[in-house]
Amino acid sequence: MAARIIDGKEIARRMRQEIGGEVTAFREESGVIPHLAAVLVGDDPASAVYVRNKQRDCEAAGIRSTLHRLSDSTEQAELLELIRRLNADRDVHGILVQLPLPGQIDETTILDAVSPVKDVDAFHPENVGRIVQGRPRFLPCTPHGCQRLLVESGVETAGAHAVVLGRSEIVGKPMALLLIQKGEAANATVTVCHSRTRDLASVTRQADILIAAIGKPEFVTREMVKPGAVVIDVGINRLDDGRLVGDVDFEAVREIAGAITPVPGGVGPMTRAMLLRNTLTAATIQAESRD
Ligand code: NDP
Repeated sequence: MAARIIDGKEIARRMRQEIGGEVTAFREESGVIPHLAAVLVGDDPASAVYVRNKQRDCEAAGIRSTLHRLSDSTEQAELLELIRRLNADRDVHGILVQLPLPGQIDETTILDAVSPVKDVDAFHPENVGRIVQGRPRFLPCTPHGCQRLLVESGVETAGAHAVVLGRSEIVGKPMALLLIQKGEAANATVTVCHSRTRDLASVTRQADILIAAIGKPEFVTREMVKPGAVVIDVGINRLDDGRLVGDVDFEAVREIAGAITPVPGGVGPMTRAMLLRNTLTAATIQAESRD
């Protein structure tokens, strides 16, 4: 039987609406307008589209968004100075630095410079440490989006074997951290795979929940998936013919999986919705600390 399709677009639409309602209530109660400052360095067209979409989502949810555009030749010191200004600006609650940054800038130095209470991507070591210890301030947007997709589709994670394919700081590693925690939408037994994993297919075939985040078009084949497994495809890959595909061979895998996310329309919209959630959380934390 063909897999159930997990409609990330629709689930994200509901979440944006829900967050929009919470933003309205927060604004009325506190008199504060949540404000996300986006920083875009250079003119990578894909990054520009991502930032524009995030800004559009913010506006629709009642969150103010401002864009700081810097040229491709920006020096690290200049970007650090901008981050310092945004950190100090009491009207700015969240700071998003769109990646990748040009080669002359060290990403870690920049991300470490963002104030932990404004770090809506949850990349700062303080926020990562809090996630490790199970007392998060913000949850990382893409892994959190995947987790919400599982919850909203009624997938039981407790006791399930979740295999995460990829160990990046942005997706794979924090994804594993969320699923391994005690608590709701977690309590999974987690295996993390990467490019050095031996006999990958034998590991992925054990997954009740398979999360693919490796950035290789249609890498996960039918033979790598256990019949009935839930497959979450984080990958976004542009093929030479212009098509957008995930890390999973969708057409083949949907024949045997229990449920699967499409690309586009799966994890992507959820990532954006979780950014709104974090911006509201950031505004709430900062408003409370000023009371
Ligand atoms: P990275 O390139 O940072 O990490 C890829 C990971 O996959 C690495 O851990 C790497 O292993 C592993 N890997 C690569 N090739 C193989 C292989 N042949 N077998 C096993 N493991 C392999 O990618 P990201 O985590 O940043 O992104 C992954 C994908 O998700 C990309 O397509 C990206 O565009 C997409 N993405 C989507 C988002 C969304 O909102 N939907 C958000 C963020 C990313 P090793 O560490 O050993 O090198």
